[in-house]
Amino acid sequence: MELAERVTSIQPSPTLAVNAKANALRAQGIEVLNFGVGQPDFGTPEHVCAEGIKAIEEGFTRYTPADGMPELKQAVANKFKADFGLEYSIDQVIINVGGKHSGYLLCQALVNPGDEVIVPAPYWVSYPSMVILAGGTPVIVAATQENDFKLTADQVKDAITSKTKAMFLNSPSNPTGSVYSEDELRAVAEVCAEAGVMIFSDEMYEAIVFDGLKFTATASLSPQIFEHTVTMNGASKAYSMTGWRIGYMAGPQELIKACAKIQSQSTSNPCSIAQRAAIAALQGPQDEVVRRCGEFAKRRDYILERLLAIAGVSCPRPTGAFYAFPNVSAYYGKKAGDQVIDGSVAMSDYLLDSVHMATVPGAAFGEDRCIRFSFATDMDTIAKGMDALEKALAALD
Ligand SMILES: *Cc1c(COP(=O)(O)O)cnc(C)c1O
Repeated sequence: MELAERVTSIQPSPTLAVNAKANALRAQGIEVLNFGVGQPDFGTPEHVCAEGIKAIEEGFTRYTPADGMPELKQAVANKFKADFGLEYSIDQVIINVGGKHSGYLLCQALVNPGDEVIVPAPYWVSYPSMVILAGGTPVIVAATQENDFKLTADQVKDAITSKTKAMFLNSPSNPTGSVYSEDELRAVAEVCAEAGVMIFSDEMYEAIVFDGLKFTATASLSPQIFEHTVTMNGASKAYSMTGWRIGYMAGPQELIKACAKIQSQSTSNPCSIAQRAAIAALQGPQDEVVRRCGEFAKRRDYILERLLAIAGVSCPRPTGAFYAFPNVSAYYGKKAGDQVIDGSVAMSDYLLDSVHMATVPGAAFGEDRCIRFSFATDMDTIAKGMDALEKALAALD
């Protein structure tokens, strides 16, 4: 069969592939230390589940408006206003089938063949593919480890051409855990706004920041930046609702309407039951979100200390999200038996085979020197995992 070129131009999501490999080992009865998962290990809060159940019992099981329930859009607008001071009318808000689909829709709505979209690396795995699927060209700009893998305004300036339509920005970052300060964010966003480049600001981990840092929403930085920003968020990470598939975004009405049009001809509305649950999540008590953030902070402290204690390993301090992204390239070129560890893919494979530890190779995020550890797992696993990592790296020669 001759499939469409757009299919052969992208790879399946590598993070999901790691999970599949780990599951295969588990099916053989092998205990896997899982640092591969990109989702909270906590369950969906009880009051949120209860609302989903209530929605089913009430027969709330039919189509909603294709771009989401007005009540949920209003809850999103209220959140953006209360948390970041952003003024969005509900016509500027859309509810999507997960945060991933928000990015996909934005590319479909804005990018023509030949257009460029700036993707800072290390990047979330799906951004380049979303651009390619829209016929555009992802322009990968590598942030430096010295700058904690954050892009500078000068780098953005240099990357912008007459074809640049948009730039993805992800703070707190998956995979690095880096968080842009307000000044860093403003500098980068101003360059985009002045050049008429839209900022796709993926703020999925906004609720998970550490060290007393203040999260800054990109759109809140100035009226000009507001007009050039789409604020992207969702229920998946803050409320442990990855399986419910609720993402949302707000931005210029013309662009949001365009996304709604595409959604109306593709997925239609996100699950009615999940939308009701998301309203409960947004409008209900937020203390569980805060408590979980505190848990992630403790794990971050521990895993970072252990990683930095390993000879040859360096790691930017994750100040948000639940990932550490250590540079393990000092071990590249070494051997495990006959196998040469020639990069992050070989390193991740080696760790899985030798000590049954699942990680995601940095190559999947455009940074081959690093591998990603998710610390959305319990302390016991983290402790065992760091022991195993020490042992595995020391065994290379
Ligand atoms: C998890 C994640 C999302 C959204 O995920 P969904 O499951 O599709 O809601 C978006 N951006 C980043 C960077 C993520 O890590």
